[in-house]
Amino acid sequence: MTKACPAQFSFKDHNGCSLDLTPGKVVCVGRNYAEHAKELGNPVPKTPLFFIKPKTAIVDLEPEFKMPLTSEPCHFETEIAVLIGKQLKSSICNEVSRSDTEVENAIAGYGIALDLTLRQLQNKLKAKGHPWEIAKSFDGACPMGAFYTGNLKPNEVGLECSVNEEVRQRGFAIEMIVGIVDLLKLITQYFTLEPGDVVMTGTPAGVGPLIFDDKFECKLLRNNHDGNVSELVKYNSLVKN
Ligand code: ZN
Repeated sequence: MTKACPAQFSFKDHNGCSLDLTPGKVVCVGRNYAEHAKELGNPVPKTPLFFIKPKTAIVDLEPEFKMPLTSEPCHFETEIAVLIGKQLKSSICNEVSRSDTEVENAIAGYGIALDLTLRQLQNKLKAKGHPWEIAKSFDGACPMGAFYTGNLKPNEVGLECSVNEEVRQRGFAIEMIVGIVDLLKLITQYFTLEPGDVVMTGTPAGVGPLIFDDKFECKLLRNNHDGNVSELVKYNSLVKN
């Protein structure tokens, strides 16, 4: 008899269709919104810091995702996720000059993903000056939703999330310390971005712990610059353990 295996993660677009991209690494950005840096007592940096979650961290955001089996609280950080559709080679070994248009053309879509964090463990590691991976890159540490593949400019994207119907986080790309195109340029100074890689763009203020049975909802928003904000994708999920 064959045992049922959990379905492997695959990218979907906002219509629920599979996208022909194989999940790769997730490059994350810390402290890219001033208000969030302040809420954790961190200095507001001039350039953001980067870390990586492996593809084994990616799981579906919907209809539910699991908390790690640890006694310490697990925090959510809701982030705008950028799906890479074309390779952007790094300039660490070779001279690369890159236009904004080339970067924008490499983006396959925008979605929402969570940077789940074992905050106490992260704080301990931070205090020792150690890397964070075990606090942020464990299996399941990156629940990821569908990507909006329609026409959308990098500076129009926004997000909102609520836990048990209370709005907790709301943020827009225009509030980022480093905007999306410049982030991809900074990242590719060091790391080549491949099709199927995802860049998480940092979290707005309002992070906090999630517990079993929490109702987690978020929205991908478009900021139309005329004061109008429209909803592009809605995600509904339940926290399990
Ligand atoms: Zn984060």
